[in-house]
Amino acid sequence: MRIGVLKEQSDKRVAIVPAVAKKLADLGATLQIESGAGANAGYDNNAYDGANIIDRAAVLQRSDVLISINPLPEDELKSLQKNTLLISEFKPFFDKDVSERLKTQGLRAISMDMIPRTTLAQSMDVLSSMASIAGYKAVLTAANILPRYFPMMITAAGSIKPSKVLILGAGVAGLQAIATAKRLGAQVEAFDTRTAAKQEVESLGARFVEVAGAKEDTGAGGYAVEQDEDFIKRQREEVQKRAMNADVIITTAQVRGRKAPILVPSSTVEKMKPGSVIVDLAASTGGNCELTQDRQTIQHKGVFIVGNSALADEMPEDASTLYANNLLNFLKLIIKEGELNLDFENEIVQSAFITH
Ligand code: NAD
Repeated sequence: MRIGVLKEQSDKRVAIVPAVAKKLADLGATLQIESGAGANAGYDNNAYDGANIIDRAAVLQRSDVLISINPLPEDELKSLQKNTLLISEFKPFFDKDVSERLKTQGLRAISMDMIPRTTLAQSMDVLSSMASIAGYKAVLTAANILPRYFPMMITAAGSIKPSKVLILGAGVAGLQAIATAKRLGAQVEAFDTRTAAKQEVESLGARFVEVAGAKEDTGAGGYAVEQDEDFIKRQREEVQKRAMNADVIITTAQVRGRKAPILVPSSTVEKMKPGSVIVDLAASTGGNCELTQDRQTIQHKGVFIVGNSALADEMPEDASTLYANNLLNFLKLIIKEGELNLDFENEIVQSAFITH
């Protein structure tokens, strides 16, 4: 079985790093890597010892399984052999007809973002791996822009108060942001609609902000559900009170398959101190701040607003390593004795395979 690995088109990461390529070879697969695939993540062609390094057209034509982090451009699908198994993040919750388009072309697809968020699948969960990096990088990005210290400083030239950081959404990214901001010495408050988040926030030494009456649904697979207008209004009021004192707000609140809730309207941004920073990790799904522009940093009345949901891309070496380890754990499930073996009785395979 030939596994092809493509170079990402506008992303510094690579889906398979050299150490994982070796382990895939041990599973009996033949690896064909697009020349330069790992270059931006710090892995040159020579590092992929034992793999075939070939050009993109050859990888596309000669692979039984084709791996990339981002889906390949539609016009390249034509050059693939029928029945090729594509493994990427197809985001079918947002790109609603992607499964049909792939099926029409005679292709099969595994979407890594559809792997269930269960204990059993934890080692394959690319969303968590990347969200954790994004949470860490969001804090570092804010600290870089902020014209103030994060930690308290007592110096001969005077004392500096610690910065106040408000985190909205305490899922994987939010919790990593809390831990990172605490390590840098900031005072941290966080909010989430899931009550389970309270204990996690407090165990990291941050204060949990309570807004009563959030809707929860145990049937939503651990994900948050959309809140009603009354709740969002009360939440915005609570956020506004805290935003006025905050130096940094990191927003990560998302509801799967929906536009992100607006938790920081313009009126709140206008009440923040000049020089304060908002990093909006929900930018790609509309943003939690009303003024966010995806993939841009803007300034509004002295407040910096960074809209970026792809911060994992800014730490490409470790992001690629974790991504590749997640992929390896998944591939071990679907490769038996060097051949593809898709067991649709398995819940993980069943959920991730989007071209049934
Ligand atoms: P996500 O990226 O979908 O959303 C980020 C956070 O925003 C979530 O914690 C969500 O509750 C919160 N949120 C949504 N609407 C909000 C609002 N109006 N106000 C405030 N917060 C709001 O979440 P995620 O980080 O991908 O995690 C989703 C869930 O999956 C969590 O329950 C997480 O613990 C769980 N999870 C489980 C596993 C596992 O068991 N293997 C792995 C990863 C995540």
